[in-house]
Amino acid sequence: MDLSSVGTDVERVIATEEQLRTKIAELAAQVDKDYKDRDLLLVGVLKGAIMAMADLTRAMQRHVEMDWMAVSSYGSGTKSSGVVRILKDLDRDITGRNILIVEDIVDSGLTLSWLRANLLTRGAASVEILAILRKPEAAKVDVPVKYVGFEIPSDFVVGYGLDFDEKYRNLSFIGVLAKHMYS
Ligand code: 5GP
Repeated sequence: MDLSSVGTDVERVIATEEQLRTKIAELAAQVDKDYKDRDLLLVGVLKGAIMAMADLTRAMQRHVEMDWMAVSSYGSGTKSSGVVRILKDLDRDITGRNILIVEDIVDSGLTLSWLRANLLTRGAASVEILAILRKPEAAKVDVPVKYVGFEIPSDFVVGYGLDFDEKYRNLSFIGVLAKHMYS
């Protein structure tokens, strides 16, 4: 779905479809290079990472395995608390595996910080993180995000997998949701 179909719901475009394509290709090339001659298991965080995972893996020039986790972060309103519940776990044993977590956005970083620690305790050989977007808040938490698509302001964004009340995930671009949609 493109901008013309959402009317005034989106107040500003953060990354166009073209910019996303270019950025994903860059990230894919970098991941290919960094994991050359190493096994790689990509772990997507449902549901926000679905578009990034689909595009990233198709832009890569090597075999990869994919698995998925769904987590819910307890918190008040739109802020996460860092206390995480696993709604869907990985399908396989990850002992000795090199894992790259694919995430839509790092905001407070609390969810990813927990997830990374959790995967390491299961015996993964390495756990790195790729996030399409990173907000300034993330700088306050010590979560090492190795690959970042775009640094963005603290606005609430939707599209390319990111939702508001399960809508807008299928926007082909990422944009700031207009305030009148949720206030
Ligand atoms: P964190 O633990 O980093 O604060 O939480 C990250 C999660 O919060 C993301 O995976 C995403 O689900 C949600 N989130 C944070 N910022 C936004 C945003 O601007 N838009 C949307 N749709 N979700 C967000």
